[in-house]
Amino acid sequence: MQDDTICQIILYNQLWDQYLYTNYTHFIYIHNIWKINFQGRELHLNTNSKIIDYAGWKQCIDVLKEKWKIAEFLIEKSFISGIRKYAQKHSVSQFVLITPVEDYVHKNFIKISRQLKEEGITLTFTKDEHSFFLSHEDFKAQYKKPPIMEYFYRFMRKRENILMTEDGKPEWGEWNYDKENRKFDRKHERSWSFDIEKNDAWIEAEKYYNFHSKFVFPTNRSEALELLEYFLENHLDNFGRLEDAMYQDDAYVHHSLLSSSINYWLLTPSEVVKAVEARDTAMNNKEWFIRQVLGWREYMYHFFHSYKDTIYIENFLNHTRPLPEYFWKDPESCPINSLRVTLEQVHKENMSHHIQRLMIIGNFALLCNLDPHELNHWFFEYYTDAFEWVVTPNVLGMSQFADGWKLATKPYVASANYIHKMSDYYKHSDHNPKEKYTDDACPFNYLYWCFVADNKETFEKWRQQFVVKNLEKIDIEKCRELKEKFLKDQY
Ligand SMILES: Cc1cc2nc3c(=O)[nH]c(=O)nc-3n(C[C@H](O)[C@H](O)[C@H](O)COP(=O)(O)OP(=O)(O)OC[C@H]3O[C@@H](n4cnc5c(N)ncnc54)[C@H](O)[C@@H]3O)c2cc1C
Repeated sequence: MQDDTICQIILYNQLWDQYLYTNYTHFIYIHNIWKINFQGRELHLNTNSKIIDYAGWKQCIDVLKEKWKIAEFLIEKSFISGIRKYAQKHSVSQFVLITPVEDYVHKNFIKISRQLKEEGITLTFTKDEHSFFLSHEDFKAQYKKPPIMEYFYRFMRKRENILMTEDGKPEWGEWNYDKENRKFDRKHERSWSFDIEKNDAWIEAEKYYNFHSKFVFPTNRSEALELLEYFLENHLDNFGRLEDAMYQDDAYVHHSLLSSSINYWLLTPSEVVKAVEARDTAMNNKEWFIRQVLGWREYMYHFFHSYKDTIYIENFLNHTRPLPEYFWKDPESCPINSLRVTLEQVHKENMSHHIQRLMIIGNFALLCNLDPHELNHWFFEYYTDAFEWVVTPNVLGMSQFADGWKLATKPYVASANYIHKMSDYYKHSDHNPKEKYTDDACPFNYLYWCFVADNKETFEKWRQQFVVKNLEKIDIEKCRELKEKFLKDQY
């Protein structure tokens, strides 16, 4: 029996019609062109995100129209004006919305629902049962505050019975196969070759935004399933071993690029995890991938919701320097090759893999004392897979320790030595990763030693006394001089 008295509002990240309330007749997607205010600043989302949003919904609405009678794609200045318009046109006074996954969007809709109530229109929220394995209520029932990720991950493996034996032990005996991962092959050939053709909705969205994208992401379920299959067939077998490797001419190595498809609801985290679990491949690949989705992805969501009231006001290391201009435009003017390549790629494709995010961009920002909140804003604007619940804990917690290291259990900072070990970036650079003080020394070296000197106690707390001990061999005054000059040149 179809209910034609209620209209479901569909949000930009709810891109799969199967998840909607199939007994309703009315659906609207309000594509809004309002200015998004995020933490007191205007948020200019990257065009790829806007295209996925627009093209994804164009296609979803078409499917809905075929199945049901009334589904509309409205382009409006605000959500509220779209709801009012629809209510009037179709004489519907009840609207329902699956609770937005982003807190600032949820708060905005709560405000809207109060306003609408006065006009006789109800807007109710229902539970999001699709974005994560575990609801935040269930998480809170289990934990007073987030435990360390490893314990949470083991809990999730048991709870979901993923990679577990019948007697409740981790399959193949270990929880973690890390020692087989994090390798770097000096000889490497690019093999990432999945291309999605721009579909009609994508082309329409490009016209709408007057933008030509250089990299196409899935915008419908079948494209996302194809990407998943491509990853399983071609890259999962090397995923673990090379998960931290970085190559100048191979941006994605063996990563899946599935984050935007999962975050926009084109794939469920559960089906992705089960597909990997079912695959015949070495345990280090399976375990590592499943750790990312069942462990880290879930953990970040619950961590964010546990600390969302404080995370935006904390700046534990008191870093306040603005981001250099090349983060926002002309990334080719960045003077460090590894950072330049990564920034250029992010500007072009709105994507990079996790080590580029953590150990190139995040590391650089931390070592240069850049403002973590401005960096969070930057990540949010530039990445296709960025949503508040995932970008904020990754940037402010894991990468910048702005949360007073509630999240990170070790420092994600490194000198050029690490970047040299895990990449071929120095083959294409005038900087020498082995030098600290010479004209061709890689800035990551002297920046790193200044950071260690400035944060000795924190390193000791991290049980990294050996790093502090190495300071004895460093001419820290020289490093500080070089840092000052370097920073001056960046503005
Ligand atoms: C500073 C920083 C910012 C980040 N911002 C985002 C973001 O805005 N959106 C986002 O989805 N991920 C973010 N991540 C996590 C991670 O970098 C991306 O999920 C990953 O690079 C996406 O590429 P992929 O799909 O090829 O991932 P793969 O390497 O193939 O990993 C598989 C999947 O695991 C999940 N995953 C892995 N690591 C994480 C993590 N730390 N947090 C949450 N999910 C994870 C993703 O769903 C990803 O698709 C960030 C990490 C850092 C260090």
